[in-house]
Amino acid sequence: MAYAEVSVNSPIAQRRTFSYAIPPGLSVDVGQAVWVPFGDKLLQGIVLELSHYPAVEETREIVGVIEPCPLLSPCQVVLARWISEHYLSSLFDAVALMLPPGFERKVVTFISGLPSPRQYDVSSLTQGQRYVLDLVHSKDRVGLRELEKALGKKRAQSIVSQLVRRGLAVRSYELEKVKVQSKTVPYLRLLVEASEARQEAARLHEQGKAIKQASLLEFLSQRAQPVALSEAKKGANCDKAVADALVSKGLVTVQQIEVRREPISYQSITPSLPLTLASAQKSALQSIRSSLLQVKEGYTPPVFLLHGVTASGKTEIYLQALAEAVKLGKRGIILVPEIALTPQTIERFASRFPHKVAVLHSKLSLGEQFDEWQRIRNGGFDVVIGSRSAIFAPQPDLGLIVIDEEHEWTYKQHDKSPRYHTRDVAIKLAELSGAVVILGSATPDVETFYHAQRGDYQLLQLPERVTPSEGSPLPQVAVVDLRDELKAGNRSLFSRSLSRAIAKAVAGGEQVILFLNRRGAATFIQCRNCGLVLHCRRCEVALTYHSAGDALVCHQCNYRISMPQVCPRCLSRRIKFLGVGTQKLEQEASYAFPQARRLRWDSDVTKGKHSHQEMLNKFRDHQADILIGTQMIAKGLDLPLVTLVGVISADTGLNLPDFRAGERTFQLLSQVLGRAGRGTLWGQVIIQTYSPEHYAIQTAAKHGYALFYDKEIAYRRQLHNPPFTRLACLVYSHTNNVLCQREAERMKRIIIEERDSRGITDLSLIGPAPTFIRRLRGRFRWQIILRGSELPAFLAQIPIPQGWTIDIDPIGLA
Ligand code: ADP
Ligand code: ZN
Ligand code: ZN
Repeated sequence: MAYAEVSVNSPIAQRRTFSYAIPPGLSVDVGQAVWVPFGDKLLQGIVLELSHYPAVEETREIVGVIEPCPLLSPCQVVLARWISEHYLSSLFDAVALMLPPGFERKVVTFISGLPSPRQYDVSSLTQGQRYVLDLVHSKDRVGLRELEKALGKKRAQSIVSQLVRRGLAVRSYELEKVKVQSKTVPYLRLLVEASEARQEAARLHEQGKAIKQASLLEFLSQRAQPVALSEAKKGANCDKAVADALVSKGLVTVQQIEVRREPISYQSITPSLPLTLASAQKSALQSIRSSLLQVKEGYTPPVFLLHGVTASGKTEIYLQALAEAVKLGKRGIILVPEIALTPQTIERFASRFPHKVAVLHSKLSLGEQFDEWQRIRNGGFDVVIGSRSAIFAPQPDLGLIVIDEEHEWTYKQHDKSPRYHTRDVAIKLAELSGAVVILGSATPDVETFYHAQRGDYQLLQLPERVTPSEGSPLPQVAVVDLRDELKAGNRSLFSRSLSRAIAKAVAGGEQVILFLNRRGAATFIQCRNCGLVLHCRRCEVALTYHSAGDALVCHQCNYRISMPQVCPRCLSRRIKFLGVGTQKLEQEASYAFPQARRLRWDSDVTKGKHSHQEMLNKFRDHQADILIGTQMIAKGLDLPLVTLVGVISADTGLNLPDFRAGERTFQLLSQVLGRAGRGTLWGQVIIQTYSPEHYAIQTAAKHGYALFYDKEIAYRRQLHNPPFTRLACLVYSHTNNVLCQREAERMKRIIIEERDSRGITDLSLIGPAPTFIRRLRGRFRWQIILRGSELPAFLAQIPIPQGWTIDIDPIGLA
C-alpha cells in the first residue's frame, strides 16, 4: 500500500490522522513510529492505518522510520482510537499512553553527503560551506550539534540549510539514546584457598580475637563462588568494617559485579505453592477457568466482578487464575491502585511466579523503565504489575487482566488528558484481545455492582474471610457520637471509649491504627481579632499549618510560606489553630498515651524510594504500638497484631457537594475496618462521628455492602445520577474571572442550540457555575455539567476552543 494514516505529535492534530505517501523502498507497518513533515517542522508520528488511497489530494512523504519494529500492537492501535473518541482527547495523547517510556526524547540531527552529489563548482562555495562539506565527506555523517559547537549555533544552521537547498547534503534524524546505567554490586572473593581460610578462622577463634572476622572467613570458605557483600553481611552477621579488615589483611578482595536490575529483590522471597481453595473460592476460580479455556477468535469472555470482603481470598484467586492463563500460553496484567502501597501483593506474585514478574514503578529511572518495557515486549514476563498506566504495557499474548480494588479513584486519570478510566479501558482492551477481566473489590463501585446485577458482568461472591485458624471473624464496630462527648465535657480528639480501648490494647502488647484523612497539624489558622483566614495566593483554599518547618502549605499547589508571627491584616498576635491533621493527632496521642511508641505514616513522611516498605516493616516488627495515618494506611495491609482501629473523624469527606460523597465515605470506612483483626487476635473498630445516623456510616459499621448498595442505588435512580445517566464536565479556566464566566455562558448557548437543533431530548445541562475550588494556581474556573446518554458523540460535533478541558464520566469535584 502506498499511503499511511499517521497520528502526528502536534497539538493542532487533535483527534484526526494525516495522510502521507510512503516513499518507494521504505517499508512501513501499522503501529510503527515515523518521522513526518508537518508545516515547516519534522514531527514524530505513529502509523495507524495503511491504505491504497490518501484521504486528501496532495500528500507529503514520510521522511523515515524511527524504530524498526512497530511500537503499538494492532489491538493497541484500535484502543488508542477508541480512547480518543470516547474521552475526546487528542489522538496522539491517546497513542502516547502506549509508547515506550521516554519516547518523546530529544531529536538528534545528523548531516551527511549524498552518495552521488550534483556537480558543483567548489569556488562557488563559501569558506564555511566548504568546511562543512569536507567534514561531512570525511565521515559518514556529522552531528549538527558538533557543527554548532565549532561554528556557532546560528552560523552552523544556516550553512546546513544552504547546503541542503543546493542538494549537496541531507539531514537525517534520530532519537537521543536512552541512557541506562548499568548497576554493579560489591562481591567478596577469597584470595586464599578455602582450607587456608578455615585454618585462619580457627586460629582467630583460638586466640579469642576478631571473632567476627573469623566467622566471615568461615562463611566465605563454605562458598565456591564470590558472595554478594549484602548476603555475606547477613550470613555471617557482621558489618562492612569486618570485611574491610579482611581486605586489609589480604585475605579477601572486593569485586564490583554487574547485575541485572530487578525491581523485586528475591533474596527475602521464598517460592510458594498454590493454596487449597475454600469452596467459595473454588467455584469462583472454576468460572474464570472455564472462560479462559473457551477463548478463541470471535469469543468475548465475560467481565467478572469478584466481590469478597477483605481477606476472603481474592488475591489467591488472581494468583491461581494467572497460573491457569500461563498454562494456556497466555500472560497477564495485574493492576493495583498504587504500586508503592502494595508491597505485600507484589511479594505474593513474586513468590508464586519467581523472576516472571515485571513491576512498573514510576520511581524507576527512565532508563530502567525503558529496559523493563523492552523486556515485557519481548515476552520476558508472565505478569506485569503496576498502577493504572500498566494497562498499556506491551504485554504479548494477553489472556488475563485483573483490576484489584476496582472501586479506587486512582484508576481514573483526572488531571491530564486523556481523562480515561482504567476499568473501561481494560474492558475495551479485553474485548479487542480476547482477554478475561477480573474486577476485584470488597466494596465495588456502585456502578460496577449495578452492571453485575444487570448481568453485564458476571458476579462471583466470596462472602466470608478465609481464616487461618478459627476465631478472627469480621471485627466488631462501635460508632461513637462526638456530640455526646462534647456534652460530657470531653474536648479531646479521643472519645472516652476510644481512649480506654487504646490504653488497653497497648498495655496488652497489641497494636493500634488511628486513621484521619487529613495531613498537617491544623487545617487552617484564623486571627482571633479580625477573623482573617489565611488563603493560598493562587488558589481559593485555606492554607494548612504544618508543624514541621513551622509553615503554611497549600495542599492544591504546594505554595508554602513560613508561619506569620502576627496577623497580616490587623497585626494581632492572637492566631488560632483550627481543625486537625495527622501531625496534630500524633501530638495529642503523645500527651494522652505517653508510654506508647508512635509512628506517623502520611505522604509528608514517605517521600523516598523505599519509605513505604520501611514504615510497613517497622510497624510489622512491632517497633511501634500506634500507627497514625491518612487513607494510605487503609490500603491492603496485612498486620496481624493490630486489634484496634480508631477512626478519628468519619465526617471529613461527607459534607462535600458531590453525589458520590456517601459512597466514598462508605468505601473508606470499610477499607479501614478491614485492617483490624487480620491475625488470630480479635479485632475492634471505633468510628467517631458527628453524624452517626448517616447511612454510609451506619451500613459500613454493619459490614453491610448490600444494605449500602440498596440505599445508594435508590438515591442514584431518584436523582438521575450515574449509572442511570452519564456525565461530562466541561471546565474553562482563565486568569480573568469575568472573561472566564463569559466564555462559559457562550459555550452553554452553543450546546443548547446544538441540542435543540438536533432534537436531542435526554440531554440536560447544569451551570455554568464556579468549580468547587474557584481559583486554582492563579486561574479562575467555571464549569458546565452535562447529563445524557451519548455525550462523547454529541460533544465531538461542537467546536471547543483552547482553554477548555473535557472530562467524560468525571469522578469527584472539578
Ligand atoms: P483478599 O485478597 O480478599 O484480601 P487474600 O487472598 O489476601 O484475601 O487472603 C487473605 C489471607 O488468607 C492471606 O494470608 C492468604 O494467604 C490466606 N488465604 C487465602 N486463601 C486461602 C486458602 N484457600 N487457604 C488458606 N489460606 C488462604
Ligand atoms: Zn487579624
Ligand atoms: Zn495553592
